[in-house]
Amino acid sequence: MDVQQFDRLKNVSAKSFNDQKALIKKVLAGRDIACKQCGTFIRVTLPEDKKITGLFCAKGCTNIALDFVL
Ligand SMILES: [Zn+2]
Repeated sequence: MDVQQFDRLKNVSAKSFNDQKALIKKVLAGRDIACKQCGTFIRVTLPEDKKITGLFCAKGCTNIALDFVL
């Protein structure tokens, strides 16, 4: 992998990280956001419900752990 390829990869992951943060903000603000893959609404789970705090859709294809965000 050369330096240019590495820079491109870095930009892609930074963008998806920002997309993820934007998604998390919307869901935490109470907006109904549908999973891009299965179309079910994404819910926040809190430690009372599950061991991991995170955002999950009904089918589990959206699965974002919040440890690194909060
Ligand atoms: Zn899904």
